[in-house]
Amino acid sequence: MTSNTSELSRVLPLWRPGRGLDPQLVGPYDLAVDLQGKLKTAAIAHAAADRTLTFHRRTPAQAVRALFGADPPLTRASAPDLYAEALAPLGISGPGRTKVSVSSKAQAMAEEILANVRGPRVAFGPGARWATKRWPAERYAALADSLAAQGCSVVLVGGPPDVGVLEAFRRAVRAPVAADLSSLPLDALTAALARVQLLVTNDTGPAHLASAMGTPVLTLFGPTSPRRWGPPAPGRSVSLGLPCSPCSNHGTQVCPLGHHRCLGELQVSSVAAAARALLDG
Ligand code: SF4
Repeated sequence: MTSNTSELSRVLPLWRPGRGLDPQLVGPYDLAVDLQGKLKTAAIAHAAADRTLTFHRRTPAQAVRALFGADPPLTRASAPDLYAEALAPLGISGPGRTKVSVSSKAQAMAEEILANVRGPRVAFGPGARWATKRWPAERYAALADSLAAQGCSVVLVGGPPDVGVLEAFRRAVRAPVAADLSSLPLDALTAALARVQLLVTNDTGPAHLASAMGTPVLTLFGPTSPRRWGPPAPGRSVSLGLPCSPCSNHGTQVCPLGHHRCLGELQVSSVAAAARALLDG
């Protein structure tokens, strides 16, 4: 935020997949701020508080069409701009940059796992929750080999849901993986991302964490919007810009057109050139 600083004091998991809304936590609250703008989050926000704030998502006619599945992705602004729009009635101006602070314990874990990794350290994040957001792990491995041949150290980033993709990366890569951050808790992962020179990743959470820590991020986009989710400078987005892209707000498991050309046709050489340019400043 440019004029105010807000701090998160607690995280309450109102909604858990498979278990739904937790009635113990649903409120009433004085105010609910919905930063997702989904039909589901709008329903939760209205159940939790009398007053809700969100960014402008749909006209009433679009909301009705969305109920029947016709819901084009929101691409008119970046996520920080949309969040600032939601928070503006509270006198919080924007857009701003998210900052994350981590504990000394997390800093120490990050320091330890990267202790023997010589720079430049390049982290690779081949996972993503939604399949259509994933550039193939084998291409990440080829990219890692290419940058390792130029003297970079390979650092692997992911989380528990990415096990299969990380394994595919490990099978394909020839360069040594100097550090694997996939077992770190979130705060230590965040601290570790502050200690790499570049993160190359799909459109995922670690991209936003690294950006918040000031680390350059190269994000590979397929079905989602670089305008909405792209990293701030000095990071940059890579997208083929197909006419069908973006087709989704957050990604899907299957390409609606069945070909997944948006990432399937993205070549290692173009990503390597973009990564090299970021490393060279
Ligand atoms: S429709 Fe286009 S943008 Fe969406 S997943 Fe398929 S190829 Fe990618």
